[in-house]
Amino acid sequence: MCEACATPPPTPTLTRAQLLRLLGVGVGAAVLPALPGGAAQAATTHGTGRGPVLVENVRGYTLTRKGRLREFSSILISANGKVAGLDAHAGRGVRRVNGRGRVLLPGMHDAHGHLWSYGALASELDLSGTRTLAEAQQALAAYAAANPDLTWVTGRGWNQVIWGLGRFPTAADLDVVVSDRPVWLTRVDGHAGVANSVALALAGVTRDTPDPAGGQIIRDADGNPTGTLVDNAMGLVSSKLPAPTIEDVRQRALIAQQKLNAVGITSVSDAGTDAAGYLVLRELAQAGTLTMRVNAFLTWDAFSEVGADVRTDSFAADMLRVRTVKLYVDGALGSRGAALLQPYSDDPANTGLLRIEPEELDRRVLAILRQGYQAAVHAIGDRGNRLVLDAYDKAFRKVGDRGLRHRIEHAQVVALDDIRRFKKLDLIASMQPVHATDDMNMAEDRVGPERIKGAYAWRKLLDQGTVIASGSDFPVSSALPFEGMHAAVTRTDREGRPAGGWYSEEAMTPVEALRSFTLDAAYAAHQERVIGSLEPGKWADFVLTDLDPFCLPANRAMWQTGILRTWVGGRQVGEYGDL
Ligand SMILES: [Zn+2]
Repeated sequence: MCEACATPPPTPTLTRAQLLRLLGVGVGAAVLPALPGGAAQAATTHGTGRGPVLVENVRGYTLTRKGRLREFSSILISANGKVAGLDAHAGRGVRRVNGRGRVLLPGMHDAHGHLWSYGALASELDLSGTRTLAEAQQALAAYAAANPDLTWVTGRGWNQVIWGLGRFPTAADLDVVVSDRPVWLTRVDGHAGVANSVALALAGVTRDTPDPAGGQIIRDADGNPTGTLVDNAMGLVSSKLPAPTIEDVRQRALIAQQKLNAVGITSVSDAGTDAAGYLVLRELAQAGTLTMRVNAFLTWDAFSEVGADVRTDSFAADMLRVRTVKLYVDGALGSRGAALLQPYSDDPANTGLLRIEPEELDRRVLAILRQGYQAAVHAIGDRGNRLVLDAYDKAFRKVGDRGLRHRIEHAQVVALDDIRRFKKLDLIASMQPVHATDDMNMAEDRVGPERIKGAYAWRKLLDQGTVIASGSDFPVSSALPFEGMHAAVTRTDREGRPAGGWYSEEAMTPVEALRSFTLDAAYAAHQERVIGSLEPGKWADFVLTDLDPFCLPANRAMWQTGILRTWVGGRQVGEYGDL
């Protein structure tokens, strides 16, 4: 269905002075207050509350340091919220929790998601379930009627491929439903949006508007904009949206963490935290309100403004880490914005879009490395991936990789000759297993039978020793980690299609899939010493589930695994069913 990154909804553009004021620092202050590290300022989220706890009578699985599966039947948690031992017995003063034979697994770490757009979705029009344009129009009509006070109608989740439309949606498609207010609906992948005529007029988009660099205004035969804007052209309209308040941003974080805890996620790497997001995460972490660890990737703008001041390996007992910067090199495959070395197989005049000039990419990667930050660069097409590999290569020659475990986000279509460069440069491939099964209806149309061999190529990467950190790219794809593991292991969708799996030779083993969502995701976030598996000294972040992903009954699939309990830092943060 989809691929790639969501574009975060607009957030307030804070000047450095505003940011400092919001942080309670005098406007004239030269630097932000340093964030103290480690457990010294452990938030109230952590700890069992009443002494040690033994969760017993469980079918527990964790990973050894070498990444092998280890089973256990009980886990002892110390009062400070850390694992004290496995297969332990209750001593005096230990509270006992009966797991009733349920499966206990390390908490899931989504290595690439979008907290802010995921949280915003709760109040926006969600078109992700629509099967036709007509269904989407009905949903738009109902949403607009139910929200008469909204000055802008916004939503996301459409996919013209699923709709069988054979074209992008148009302003006229929306005008017949809403013509009194601006409407802006982003595609499921966040790499295109469709505006109605009011919104296009407000944004001043006409036939005379040139395509911005790295973006495309879809036009009819006469050169008039049809309504769909791709990648960097989206900003023409999205920049006109009313900015959310800090309270809106806070609500988005709280909604997102509640929903993510419920699907077993205890850690997330947020692929785009701006200054407002950083402020909110910091405040929530400090207050002990976060129930999910966040490894925040600063946007380039936030990094440029405050990167030197906000860097931290651990804030509030490992609840927040800020040491990564997100960049984009290209767009996505579904909207043909992914940059390819050769033209699209289904669009011979098109090689996709670069969202940044190669020289500027090189400059930014080098600046990130020099500041001691990890880089995480979105690359979907084989040209996009090659440019990022080249940028790392050049930067490493100048300043070394500094042991920062740099990342390529998605690494979706990689030229076969370039796959070995991931190992040579010691890069992490941050991939989304569900993208393979979401995209299988169009990916081969886009790139043809040869290039597809280097697409979603988990086996080739794993076999050469490259670490894959798995995520979902929520809300682009389903946030369910067990759906990701199902796709990783079977290369099929929920219905088990196609039989035998889509290019099944690239599948992961069940243990590799678990690793990629736990220990290796933690490694990619430089957090493998504190989370990612259950061993003494690490935080007691775990889930209890209703199915055993390593021993599934014949009539059940891994994606059906349900979460019954979620614990973070030795404390239960969610209860979702009977044990
Ligand atoms: Zn993304």
